[in-house]
Amino acid sequence: MNVYILENAFFSLMMSSIEVFPKECLGLLVGTKGREKFVINQAVVFQTAERTTNEVFYPRDKVYKEMERFLKEYMPYLSTLGDFHSHPYRKLERDGYKPSDGDIELMEYGNIYIIVQIHKKRKRMIWNYNPSEKTISGTIGDNFIKISAWTRSRDNGEKSEQANIICRPAVGLLGIPEWLSS
Ligand SMILES: [Zn+2]
Repeated sequence: MNVYILENAFFSLMMSSIEVFPKECLGLLVGTKGREKFVINQAVVFQTAERTTNEVFYPRDKVYKEMERFLKEYMPYLSTLGDFHSHPYRKLERDGYKPSDGDIELMEYGNIYIIVQIHKKRKRMIWNYNPSEKTISGTIGDNFIKISAWTRSRDNGEKSEQANIICRPAVGLLGIPEWLSS
């Protein structure tokens, strides 16, 4: 399974996770779905989510329904594909990009789920794809961010399966150095 994250969605995933850090953010993924691929055009943050550092409560069904109605009326070529949420940490957690048991339980078949791991950076890093982890990661401002994508398959004992991420706007991204921007 391949997941293409387009520019708008990539920046929303990053900025919404940074904005509420160290709390968790959560939202909907909107785009198109093919046989072996998802294309994510937009990541739409849930404004009314109640965030704590451990859990997020939000009116999921209501927002889903409103989004479906909006898309049907104005953008019938797009649909809701799944959810995203962030995993904020104080420092590097090796498996922090993976879904928790609770996350997996909430995954629906045929949907895609994105996890944005975030913690304060130790040093500046260029954005890149890590093929062994199937993640994209890099730094922005004071933050280190790592993004992963997941599905759940009936054929796999109901476990989660990780998808490949293709995110052209992320690869090679590095902020303009201060000496050049001033
Ligand atoms: Zn989670």
